[in-house]
Amino acid sequence: MNTLLPTEPAVAADLLWAHRFAQRTLGVSASAIRELLKLTEHPEIISFAGGLPAPEVFPLERLAEAARLVLEEQGHAALQYSITEGYLPLRELVVRHMAGFGIKVTPGHVLITSGAQQALDLIGKLLINPGDVVLTEEPTFLGALQAFTAYEARYVTVGIDDDGMRVDQLEEALRVGPKFLYVVPNFQNPSGTTLSLERRKRLVELASRYGAPIVEDDPYGQLRYEGQYLPPLVELDAEYHGCAHGERSFRGGVLYLGSFSKVLAPGLRLGFVVAPEEVIAKLVQLKQGTDLHTSTFTQRVAYEAARGGFIDQHLIGVREVYRERRDAMLRALERHFPPGVRWTKPQGGLFLWVTLPPGLDSAVLLEEALERKVAFVPGAPFFPLGGGAETFRLNFSYCSPDRIEEGVRRLGEVLGRHVRGEASPEPATTRGS
Ligand code: PMP
Repeated sequence: MNTLLPTEPAVAADLLWAHRFAQRTLGVSASAIRELLKLTEHPEIISFAGGLPAPEVFPLERLAEAARLVLEEQGHAALQYSITEGYLPLRELVVRHMAGFGIKVTPGHVLITSGAQQALDLIGKLLINPGDVVLTEEPTFLGALQAFTAYEARYVTVGIDDDGMRVDQLEEALRVGPKFLYVVPNFQNPSGTTLSLERRKRLVELASRYGAPIVEDDPYGQLRYEGQYLPPLVELDAEYHGCAHGERSFRGGVLYLGSFSKVLAPGLRLGFVVAPEEVIAKLVQLKQGTDLHTSTFTQRVAYEAARGGFIDQHLIGVREVYRERRDAMLRALERHFPPGVRWTKPQGGLFLWVTLPPGLDSAVLLEEALERKVAFVPGAPFFPLGGGAETFRLNFSYCSPDRIEEGVRRLGEVLGRHVRGEASPEPATTRGS
């Protein structure tokens, strides 16, 4: 008998793996809510849960044309390995985008990433030592928390109101000595709120005074449906540091993250980071260990689709569709949500944020909502330090206005029973992330 070949596995697979996960992964837990939300992929569920753009607005023909051109005319280069920094014409497109803010950068300041999400991960990899503190808004983007927590970040938070981050509380948080600030100034995910101009200026000034860099995440900046354009922090940072005479140099105190997900399509997985050259050089090294480079083919297709001002043109129609859906949701909320429930009125982006009367738990409501075939995301996972049970996020970009009306009507019934105290006491809940 061959003793080297046991007839039964010596260690069950779960035991084999359970103790081998690195320490840093232990803070990254599977979410009961995420498990529940898997149900929302079912077509009969009206889902306000995901952050999905409307598939109807994807520029299919333009992308098909671009893909054909790339394969026919650049096929060999498009299917080959390429440099980590990204396809030069696409980086030049980002340079022009930054010039739109009056910020002068070169392609050497730009790294193309596999979605802005990868930029968040690479920034975490670059900057966060275990236990380092990251300053965020509260609530903040869950994907950023997932990226930073994997590098064992701790958090200090600053609350938000209708004008975004409460900068009157910022100085206290800065005194903790955060490694960097993470901010989504435009139509924030999850709250839909926008940081006012006055607060942007104050934020830049305070961060600068405390020597703390800012990571500005701006995937929704071009999705404004009303109100006045506000300059990004990266622009105000240049202005604050007195880079005069029209053309402002990029100072590097703000790392600027952008995405092609909401302006072309998220399945392309294309984003970018604008940073000082020495930061880009480090990010490039780290990205090599992750995926060598973002898909050559996709970058070229996106460039061919985007060139000649297509994105600006395309966004005119996209904004129309999303404005209509936002309005449909706001109208439906007025009509169907019970008194005592509040919500934000975003001027752009994809989300709005609901706050229930104290004592109600949106995770409990989600279970009932799913029975009524409607989904949303409970707020708690967006709070890095806990809390937020009485909040939830609604996405308005994905569903048609009719489905928005019907979904909000059903949600209103569920909420109504709880707000009026008619719901029976709940058994075990699915709180947490
Ligand atoms: N940042 C924020 C604030 C987001 O909402 C998202 C997308 N949900 C991302 C980053 C990631 O975008 P991408 O698709 O480019 O990875």
